Amino acid sequence: MPVSALYRDDFYLSTCEAVVTAVHDDGGIEFDQTCFYATSGGQPGDTGFLERADGSKIVLGQTRHGETKDIIVHVPLPDQAPLTIGETMVLHVDWARRHKLMRMHTACHLLSVVCSYPITGAAVGEDESRVDFDMTDTIDKDEVTAKLMALVEQKHPVYLQWITDEELAANPGIVKSKNVRPPVGLGRVSLVCIGENSAIDSQPCGGTHVAETQEVGQIHIAKIEKKGKENRRFRIRFGAPVVEA
Ligand SMILES: [Zn+2]
Repeated sequence: MPVSALYRDDFYLSTCEAVVTAVHDDGGIEFDQTCFYATSGGQPGDTGFLERADGSKIVLGQTRHGETKDIIVHVPLPDQAPLTIGETMVLHVDWARRHKLMRMHTACHLLSVVCSYPITGAAVGEDESRVDFDMTDTIDKDEVTAKLMALVEQKHPVYLQWITDEELAANPGIVKSKNVRPPVGLGRVSLVCIGENSAIDSQPCGGTHVAETQEVGQIHIAKIEKKGKENRRFRIRFGAPVVEA
């Protein structure tokens, strides 16, 4: 059953009330609406817990899409109490983890601004993220860190603009990823815009992001690895660069 994905309109929604609409054989749960992000586009799905009317908790280990993008399945850890269809409960996202993922995900967008090469892959993590670029140039990681932190400190707004799948198809040039498919299939696609009037960047993306670049906080490029002749893997970590002795 299609779900109302509340996080798409509010990345800062960490709890909501919802009704169970389906329980899968493997224990996976569907709700009428959810604030949980499901794994896609290189960003891992949310973890957290469900609070039942009697106050007991069901701990969720992951969130994934079903057969289509409008199905979101909340997967409990093993040996949790079974739920019944029609039950109302409160969903709680593990906010500390999700906020780190939002900061990291936004940092990946900033990296694609600093390094304007085609992206061949990306994985957002709560401690480290990686972005792969199709490039042969050699870049100094400390220079990249300095450019990233300049964008962070300039406090650019980060917001969504919605376009239709048809508009995206008519403007293929706005997609930076070579291998990562933009989030089409829902009829509308979210463009993640950075800076007033998208002055810094605009990129189709279905993930969750912070509202302003300063919220990304201190980050640095920990490593730039050569992955094949024309591929460079950048690793982004939180905190100040580690000074090498
Ligand atoms: Zn994104």
